[in-house]
Amino acid sequence: MKLEIDVKHHRLGARTGIVQTSKSQFNTPVFMPVGTRGAIRTIAAHDYKELGAEIVLGNAYHLMLRPGAKTVSDFGGLAKFSGWDGLTLTDSGGFQVFSLSPKVHDDGVRFRSTYDGSLIELTPEGAVHTQELLGADIQMVLDVCSALPSDESTLRQAMIRTHEWAKRAKKAHRRVGDQSLFGIIQGGDSELLRLESARRTVDLDFDGYAIGGLSVGESRQVMIDMLDVLEENNSFPQNQPRYLMGIGDPIGIIEAVLRGIDMFDCVLPTRLGRHGVLLTWEGKLHIRNAIHAKSEEPIDSNCSCKVCRNYSRGFIRHLVAQREASAPYLCSLHNLSWMFQYMNAIREAIKTSDVALVSLRNKIVSAYA
Ligand SMILES: [Zn+2]
Repeated sequence: MKLEIDVKHHRLGARTGIVQTSKSQFNTPVFMPVGTRGAIRTIAAHDYKELGAEIVLGNAYHLMLRPGAKTVSDFGGLAKFSGWDGLTLTDSGGFQVFSLSPKVHDDGVRFRSTYDGSLIELTPEGAVHTQELLGADIQMVLDVCSALPSDESTLRQAMIRTHEWAKRAKKAHRRVGDQSLFGIIQGGDSELLRLESARRTVDLDFDGYAIGGLSVGESRQVMIDMLDVLEENNSFPQNQPRYLMGIGDPIGIIEAVLRGIDMFDCVLPTRLGRHGVLLTWEGKLHIRNAIHAKSEEPIDSNCSCKVCRNYSRGFIRHLVAQREASAPYLCSLHNLSWMFQYMNAIREAIKTSDVALVSLRNKIVSAYA
């Protein structure tokens, strides 16, 4: 199903709107928390529903190996299986597979399972079929993700292969009534390759578009340059959603929003939470620091989450220091809630004025630089 964005406001390159899917709708710009194995680490589905999550991402790599895509399908798909009744998006598994240094050939990738060492073959068609079984509302094509830095010919080969695989994925996609398939733009840190990849991918007419292969070791400026060149050349159809894969730090999000990006995902809020690092309007707060031991303040006095309403920094620090089982839960809960409040602030600023949006950007850059 082709997704369209009903843009309500444009502001300085940014936009806010609503995307309608066959099941429901979501507001953009949107942050999608990552439920690697069908669950966001340490947090229950009823919690993130209450926090206001709209789409949750599942990793096809993990789910196809454990418990297996067929099992998830037998439960009625990922949303039903995981007790989450909102929207879901699955990645193709490619990103995880490429981190395992797989054997890549024209037909697909061959790798060993991190669960039991068995040899597994993933093809563009297989990735589509697996994600059809997982049943997410949005699925991603299998792409070739190169680490950065890489030389031009490696990046070019990955971009061409991504394009060839995208054609095959599109042909293999059968659940067109209730599932959307996104194409992925590659090209590393080369402006020319990014533009060529965008042109080739958009020519294939996908249901939405993603930018992959960033946040793989390059500087923030490289990411910004790639987004700028795509934006300046009107590389994307105006009425379809644009997803920047794997970027979810507060500065990265607002810089990308200002360059027309609508969708984000990242493990950052929960990963930081498990390490006692908390997201606040003043920047990262390291709750282990001794300075918080006697603090009766909440983590963030401007956060409306349950953790900030009920507990002091001193108590949270005590739980983290003593490795209480509730510590990663409470820290992740706050971080995820803060992310949703942040996305809400971004959407409000886009609606309000240029000044509001620029001042939000400046506030985040000074807090998180
Ligand atoms: Zn909070």
